[in-house]
Amino acid sequence: MEEQVIYHPDFFAIPEGEGKPYLIAFHCAGCGKTWFPILPYCPSCWSNQFEKIALHTGKLYTYTVQNTPQAGVKAPLLFGFVDFPEEGVRVGAQIEVEAGKVKEQLKIGMEMQVIAGPIREEKGGKQVISYKFMPAV
Ligand SMILES: [Zn+2]
Repeated sequence: MEEQVIYHPDFFAIPEGEGKPYLIAFHCAGCGKTWFPILPYCPSCWSNQFEKIALHTGKLYTYTVQNTPQAGVKAPLLFGFVDFPEEGVRVGAQIEVEAGKVKEQLKIGMEMQVIAGPIREEKGGKQVISYKFMPAV
């Protein structure tokens, strides 16, 4: 079995069983703003009291294709930003679509869902699992 490590379980959850993976955002008790990822203090009001909220689906803000990504990342790399308008956060992550069908499958503004998948391979073959996005189904 391949060895795997989960990237940042403090702001990315993969539920056991049927539940879908989700991001964990942090809603400030002081001023009501929401942040992702976790911060030690709210940059807006300096409170350190946060309530965790789950982010499941957002809207595609933009994306790009990188043909020469960093070492350990498969090319071509599809990377984009997804907005969660209700919470007021924008999250960057790798995007998964069917190979060779980027333009057919991605439309700006479309619903995107959080998934879990390998984002890179470390030396020695250990897979790093993290949050990614794919078109919502
Ligand atoms: Zn605040």
